[in-house]
Amino acid sequence: MAVKALKGFKDIIPGEVETWQFIEHTAREILHSFGCEEIKVPILEKTKLFKRSIGETTDIVEKEMYTFADRNGSSLTMRPEGTAPVLRAYIENSLHVAKPICKLFTIGPMFRHERPQKGRLRQFHQISVEMLGLDHPRQDAELMAMAALIIQRLGLTVSLEINSLGCPKCRPAFNKALLDFIGTIDDLCDDCLRRRESNPLRVLDCKNETCQEHYKDAPSILDHLCADCDSHFSEVKKGLDLLEVNYVVNSFMVRGLDYYTRTTFELITNDLGSQSAVGAGGRYDGLVKQLGGPAVPGIGFGMGMERLALLLQESGKAPQAKGIDLFIAALGDAAQERCFVICQAMRRQGLQVAMDLQDRSLKNQMKQAGKAKASYTLIMGEDELAQNRVVLRNMETREQQDITFTNDIENWCRELATVIN
Ligand SMILES: [Zn+2]
Ligand SMILES: [Zn+2]
Repeated sequence: MAVKALKGFKDIIPGEVETWQFIEHTAREILHSFGCEEIKVPILEKTKLFKRSIGETTDIVEKEMYTFADRNGSSLTMRPEGTAPVLRAYIENSLHVAKPICKLFTIGPMFRHERPQKGRLRQFHQISVEMLGLDHPRQDAELMAMAALIIQRLGLTVSLEINSLGCPKCRPAFNKALLDFIGTIDDLCDDCLRRRESNPLRVLDCKNETCQEHYKDAPSILDHLCADCDSHFSEVKKGLDLLEVNYVVNSFMVRGLDYYTRTTFELITNDLGSQSAVGAGGRYDGLVKQLGGPAVPGIGFGMGMERLALLLQESGKAPQAKGIDLFIAALGDAAQERCFVICQAMRRQGLQVAMDLQDRSLKNQMKQAGKAKASYTLIMGEDELAQNRVVLRNMETREQQDITFTNDIENWCRELATVIN
């Protein structure tokens, strides 16, 4: 029996891959326009990197990481998210020295051992962006505007939900208010009981309906921000207003990861009737230092590519596969031989070219040209070969022209390429 792929691991095959290339291309273009530079980091890291950054008591670290011992017994983990590896690389390569404000992005697979369900894979792909070195509120607004622009440029709608999670100075007072409030509820779910001890903020994230009903009356973190966090959040909102980015404030939005401070946000699309989150991020001002680097602030986000690809496909906005520039139909051994050389020379001209190497009938070869959605077909049969010419057919207008063949193939192809382009 043939070996199948792992559960939760999926191939992206031709026909789908064009959508992925479109997403990557669009994202890269916008990221570059904001001064973000690409960084490629390893998929495998030491386990302690994620324990230290994401937090020991998070779902990711407790239940979801692909962690194993290598042949030397070191504990390794396949990255479950992009921020920690990028920050590790930023610190290790002292990138802050050359660029006090450093904007980095990476695109690639992440791994989490979650229960597979529709649209949720164990190997999933993210566009992950980190802006380091600046805690100015306009940086937050700019980053969110950039994330929204990527989604808009893909042809999807986007709305933004934002919140502030405060800082280590004001969070304890809110935690206390929240714990006092939780103390008045007697039917909390087990998850919330556990989180109450480890990370009280996260109870607000509970999906249990009974819990959610209670939390409607929970205190708001926005009422507990210190003066600095409060004015930072006001300036962030003002920045979004200036850039005309629509947002709603959701004071119950928290993040699953421990390291977030101040601005936090989710990107939501509405394209298929129901709301779905396509990305999320936030500020993490203490994280670089916590990982052994300089005390620089940072903000970032991750965008899920599977979700974007699905939205594009299901809403009919996915790009169609483009046809090739030229199909070469050669008939007979001598014409096949000459066209084999022409084919290669046309590719050197930068054109997408295909030919049938099996010398099948003209009818069959024209069918292949149609299937390949060729813009032009070049036909060389025995007659054409004898008369030192080829027939060039515009597949859209069906116009045909004779073109005399010369022995200077390179030059001849260069001229032919200008006709086709
Ligand atoms: Zn604060
Ligand atoms: Zn709960």
